[in-house]
Amino acid sequence: MEGIYNKSQQEIAKKISSTAQKSNWKDWKWQLKHSIKDIDTFEKLLGINFTDSVKSQLQETLAKFPLSITPYYLSLIDTEDYENDPIYKQAFPSISELQVGDFEMSDPLDEDKDSPVPGVTHRYPDRILFQVCTTCSMYCRHCTRKRKVGDESFLPSKDQLSAGIEYIRKTPVIRDVLLSGGDPFLLSDDNLDWILTEIRRIPHVEVIRIGSRIPVVLPYRVTDELVTMFKKHHPLWVNTHFNHPREITESSKEALRKLADAGIPLGNQSVLLAGINDSPIIIKKLVHKLVQNRVRPYYLYQCDLSEGLKQFRTPVGKGVEIMESLIGHTSGFAIPAYVIDAPGGGGKIRVSPNYLLSWSNDKVVLRNFEGIITTYEEPREYEDVFRNYTYSDIEPKLEGAEEYKAIGIEKLLSNASDTISLIPENTERIERREHD
Ligand SMILES: *Cc1c(COP(=O)(O)O)cnc(C)c1O
Ligand code: SF4
Repeated sequence: MEGIYNKSQQEIAKKISSTAQKSNWKDWKWQLKHSIKDIDTFEKLLGINFTDSVKSQLQETLAKFPLSITPYYLSLIDTEDYENDPIYKQAFPSISELQVGDFEMSDPLDEDKDSPVPGVTHRYPDRILFQVCTTCSMYCRHCTRKRKVGDESFLPSKDQLSAGIEYIRKTPVIRDVLLSGGDPFLLSDDNLDWILTEIRRIPHVEVIRIGSRIPVVLPYRVTDELVTMFKKHHPLWVNTHFNHPREITESSKEALRKLADAGIPLGNQSVLLAGINDSPIIIKKLVHKLVQNRVRPYYLYQCDLSEGLKQFRTPVGKGVEIMESLIGHTSGFAIPAYVIDAPGGGGKIRVSPNYLLSWSNDKVVLRNFEGIITTYEEPREYEDVFRNYTYSDIEPKLEGAEEYKAIGIEKLLSNASDTISLIPENTERIERREHD
């Protein structure tokens, strides 16, 4: 499977066009132009045949969420055992997509409710999600944003993008802008350059991040010109979306190398998917391959409650088991945070095995990954001055510090606040919803 333009890739390319060359294969526009969007072409290129009744049901799935697979990603499918293949399962619909499960919703994360202007989700105090493109080169069957992604009518216009940028400009608390989609890397170099330039001109924006699945599904999009343009907009971070070690090929390694060599810190967000990567062995292999390619595993997501994802969901226990197999067992920087994006707009909540077993005034009882139970003595002489510090004591000593405002549980812990309880309706976020 490894190697750029290997035998199975050549066969697929020749079936697409008898004159296809390696240079075509490595041209991202050629790949996009020849993306597989219907079942007949899929069957023809891979020599797989579905029965008529299966085919007509599959057809129905495409009406709900389109099919699109780049020839490159298609070439990674193991045709001998495609039904169990992690690439096939992520890219090709199954008829179970048609069944909407009991708890499933079209917008489980309430992204639309937390949206002050179209395309912007402002959920956390200091950062926003900005959807700058709604199409993708490959439509992941497990996509959380199925309701929006792939629908041309949601494609943001220049006016809509400008409105998003204007929202960032007039909202000084935003210090981190996360460009998302769809896949922002599908925009032209010029369009991306324009968006990045406009956001960079806003003084309170400290970092820009881009989330993209391109290094996984269309690595040839990461051209020298693209990374040269990116270098102008530092500090720029990129998060990608590898779910299985088989996705890390010579081509994707080359894309990652280009991005890392351009000084872009790389992270990876995986989704825990039943029958695809729900095993400690697979995830461990994945994170090891990622760090070898200078990608820091960032999040491991519990699968969301979006419509039609029933067949992909695992119990939360599976995620905790995987975290148990990673923490302590392998390099700390190879371990992602396991998160559940809470339905109803609660945001990402970290979930982990428990290491704190018990505690008293004097000590805490902990256990390690091997099951050793140990204690840590609390300091007896922790001075009152430190016990009672408030943020305002510390603030003037921090360079450029502004007035500090604790929110949430942080506020309950802060000695600077008299708050003793939290009433959910009073959160700043809900107020912002009401004002807009
Ligand atoms: C995930 C997400 C972010 C970024 O969260 P981090 O934990 O900082 O990576 C921001 N806004 C929304 C709406 C998100 O879903
Ligand atoms: S690349 Fe992201 S936005 Fe696009 S289909 Fe996959 S999960 Fe959804």
